[in-house]
Amino acid sequence: MRFSGLKVIKEGLTGNRGWRPHWRDPDPKGAYDMVIIGGGGHGLATAYYLAKEHGITNVAVLEKGYLGGGNVGRNTTIVRANYFLPGNSEFYSHSLKLWESMEEELNFNVMHSQRGLINLFHSDGQRDAFARRGNAMVNQGDDAILLDREGVRQHLPYLDFENTRFPIYGGLYHPRGGTARHDAVAWGYARGADARDVDLIQNCAVTGIDVEQGRVTGVQTTRGAIRAKKVGVVVAGRSSQVAAMAGLRLPIESHVLQAFVTEGLKPAIDHVVSFGMGHFYISQSDKGGLVFGGDLDFYASYAARGNLPMAEHVMEAGMTLMPMIGKAKVLRSWGGIMDMTPDGSPIIDRAPVEGLYLNCGWCYGGFKAVPGSGFSFAHLMATDRHHAPAARYRLDRFATGRGLMDEEGTGAQHNLH
Ligand SMILES: Cc1cc2nc3c(=O)[nH]c(=O)nc-3n(C[C@H](O)[C@H](O)[C@H](O)COP(=O)(O)OP(=O)(O)OC[C@H]3O[C@@H](n4cnc5c(N)ncnc54)[C@H](O)[C@@H]3O)c2cc1C
Repeated sequence: MRFSGLKVIKEGLTGNRGWRPHWRDPDPKGAYDMVIIGGGGHGLATAYYLAKEHGITNVAVLEKGYLGGGNVGRNTTIVRANYFLPGNSEFYSHSLKLWESMEEELNFNVMHSQRGLINLFHSDGQRDAFARRGNAMVNQGDDAILLDREGVRQHLPYLDFENTRFPIYGGLYHPRGGTARHDAVAWGYARGADARDVDLIQNCAVTGIDVEQGRVTGVQTTRGAIRAKKVGVVVAGRSSQVAAMAGLRLPIESHVLQAFVTEGLKPAIDHVVSFGMGHFYISQSDKGGLVFGGDLDFYASYAARGNLPMAEHVMEAGMTLMPMIGKAKVLRSWGGIMDMTPDGSPIIDRAPVEGLYLNCGWCYGGFKAVPGSGFSFAHLMATDRHHAPAARYRLDRFATGRGLMDEEGTGAQHNLH
């Protein structure tokens, strides 16, 4: 079923009876060439690109809940390519290009909106750091414009420019940054993978990984054993637990990150704005809700919900930056489980068990990585070679210390990244 304007009009005039489910609901088969554990954004994108780019379709995605019920449907939807370090820079640049063609590629409206992202700075030192970052982005072929205080005021007149505690010196403007409707991205990749005969199996938790003589042979699930030649682990906040099923100990800590949304308002904020001094970022959804978040709750946890101290901290930061937000009513908040690495950069690599592949460590920034990660992980699983833009996301960097990508310069503490 293809979507088009004509189809929408036709269905509208005929009672909307012609729409079909986006994907089948198959029972798991006894064996597949490849099994992907985790039906989030990264797992579904991996399955899609395995089928599309490599012609590998005897694939199952095993999801313990429902597709898109994890972090891919819980994030604050920010999409950007404003990384500084080699390794991250080329990866996110590639990912953003895939975003820009995603809707045509998937024939699915993911509401990708390149409304521009502005990272504010509040000191001379921060300005220097952002100038360097902007130059790295431009050298990578992406876009970055350094704004002074008046430049920021023209874009974001509603900020508190009189605040003397955190005076706004300027901002780094990334015009191609923006947002997308998060769960639609999962649905679009799911639909594309299903159309290429990938089995998407929901309510199917993996409970064990079978390893014989150092080689993966399949998985145990709540819906029976499934044999597989290759298994990809793409389970975000649950990465340590699932990898432990194959006897692995990953350098990952899981932490809670919360998000908040207000009642629907008339258009007020037409960029994504990020405020580093208070740790606060905000955009406005197409429904009108102000969508915002802040830092991690600072304790390790597998609970997909947060606590009030961080909620208070985030609200305070919002009020400091844009006092007008105090008039809005918060409708909902929620949390997700973040897979934090010690250097804040992800892992896309083979595991020390043959036939087992790892895709994890996306911290709180993996939504924008969905297409790039799926593309690169599918390449690795299909060819056993690293895809160039993701070649530095090696697991052994945490053992050897070589090739660490500490983008934020915060050292080896998971919850500071
Ligand atoms: C509040 C919040 C705000 C965020 N904001 C942003 C942002 O603005 N921009 C950005 O780029 N990133 C953001 N992120 C991060 C981003 O959402 C994640 O990094 C990314 O979604 C993780 O990858 P995923 O989509 O594959 O994860 P998930 O959607 O969590 O997918 C993993 C799946 O694995 C399944 N699973 C786990 N264990 C098993 C098992 N044993 N068997 C079978 N299935 C299993 C889970 O049920 C889940 O569906 C945010 C995250 C949160 C929570």
